[in-house]
Amino acid sequence: MKLTQQKTTVQNLMGMPCQDLEQYFSVIREKPFRATQVMKWTHQQGITDYEHMTNLSKSLRDWLSENAQMQLPEMLSEEVSTDGTRKWLLRVDNKNAVETVYIPEDDRATLCVSSQVGCVLDCTFCATARQGFAGNLSSAQIIAQLWFAEHRLRKQLNKTRVISNVVFMGMGEPLANFDNVVKAIQIMMDDNAYGLGKRKVTVSTSGLVPKIDKLREALDVSLAVSLHAPNDEVRNQLVPLNRRYPISELISACHRFLEDKHRKHSITFEYVMLDQVNDQPEHAKQLVKVIQALPSKVNLIPFNSFPNSGYQRSSDKAIEKFRDILQAAGITTITRRPRGEDIAAACGQLAGDIQDQAKRKRHYEKLYEADLLKHKVEVACA
Ligand code: SAH
Repeated sequence: MKLTQQKTTVQNLMGMPCQDLEQYFSVIREKPFRATQVMKWTHQQGITDYEHMTNLSKSLRDWLSENAQMQLPEMLSEEVSTDGTRKWLLRVDNKNAVETVYIPEDDRATLCVSSQVGCVLDCTFCATARQGFAGNLSSAQIIAQLWFAEHRLRKQLNKTRVISNVVFMGMGEPLANFDNVVKAIQIMMDDNAYGLGKRKVTVSTSGLVPKIDKLREALDVSLAVSLHAPNDEVRNQLVPLNRRYPISELISACHRFLEDKHRKHSITFEYVMLDQVNDQPEHAKQLVKVIQALPSKVNLIPFNSFPNSGYQRSSDKAIEKFRDILQAAGITTITRRPRGEDIAAACGQLAGDIQDQAKRKRHYEKLYEADLLKHKVEVACA
C-alpha cells in the first residue's frame, strides 16, 4: 500500500455502492474486497468509525480516518404517532432538512425516504410542492436515511433487523435525481448491506417518462406511478408534468417497464382521492379503460390535508364506490389507510423545510407566475 503517495479528494464512503467502493480502493492500491468489508461494517453493523473496522489493517484504518468521510445525518426532531409511525426531520444543510417516515405494520416495516429537498413538480395537492425546490440529495444523504432508521430502531426496539421495505414516497421526485437514487438503491439491495429484494424497494414517480425507461435498464425494482386522474384534462390540473408527458405516453412507458419477461412485477398506481375532483364513478370507469391491459394494482390514497391546500378528502362512501368499480373490473384495489396523520407524516404532508413559511409561499406563487415550471421540468428530464 502506497497510500501516502496517493492524492485523492475527500469522499463520503456512506453513499458508495460496491463498485464505486472497489474503484475507490483500487485507486489507493487496496484489494477490492475492502469494499465489502467497509460496506458490512457500515450498513450491516452500523459502525462508521473507521478505527473500529477491525479487519482492516491499522494503516488503512488510520488513512481512512484522515482521508475519507462517513457523513451521518443529524436528527433535528423525532415524532411518534399514536399508531406507531415515526417521522424524523434530518438536516441537509443550514437552511434545509428532509423528512423520513417509518411505518410499522403487522407483516412488514416500511421506510418512506426522501430523494430531494422539496420538489420541482408542483402537484397541486402536495405539501412538499409548496416549499419549492432546494436541491437533490446525494446518494449518501439518501442511504443515510435507511442507515439512521435501521440502526436507531434496532437499538430502540431491541431487534436484529427492522426495515423490510423502502418506498421512495417521501419528499421529491426520485427519477429527477436519477443517478443518486440508483446508487442508493444499489446499496439497499446489496447483500453486503441491507439485502432488500426487488419487490421490497419501490420507486414512486409522478411520470417522468424517459426516466422510467432509464430505470428499467438500470435496476430491477418495483415501480409506483402517481396517476391520480383517468384523463388528461383532470391530470393536467393535478400533476402539471402531465402537460409534458400525457397519460397515453405514461401508460406506454409502464408497458415497456413490464416488458422484460424476467420481471414479474406489476405496476402500482397511486390515486389520491379528492372530493368531487377525481372521485366520481365516471372517473373510476375511465380509469379501468386506461389501465386494464396492464398488470397493475391501484392504491387509493384518501387525500391528506394541509393548511390552504384547497382540496377536500373524498367521502368514505365515494372511495368505497370507486374501489368497487375497479374491483368489479378485476383490478386489485387497496384503500391506503392514512398513517401518522397526527404528526403530519402521511403521504403528501412532508415538508421538512426549516425556512420560514412566508418565503415558501412566495416561492410557490412565483413558480406559477413564470413559465418556470416548464423550464424546471426540462431540467429534471435532461
Ligand atoms: N414524487 C413522487 C413521490 C412522492 S409523493 C410521486 O409523485 O410519486 C408519494 C405519493 O403521495 C404520491 O403518489 C403523491 O402523489 C401522494 N401525495 C402527495 N400529496 C398527497 C396528499 N396531500 N394526500 C395524499 N397523497 C398525496
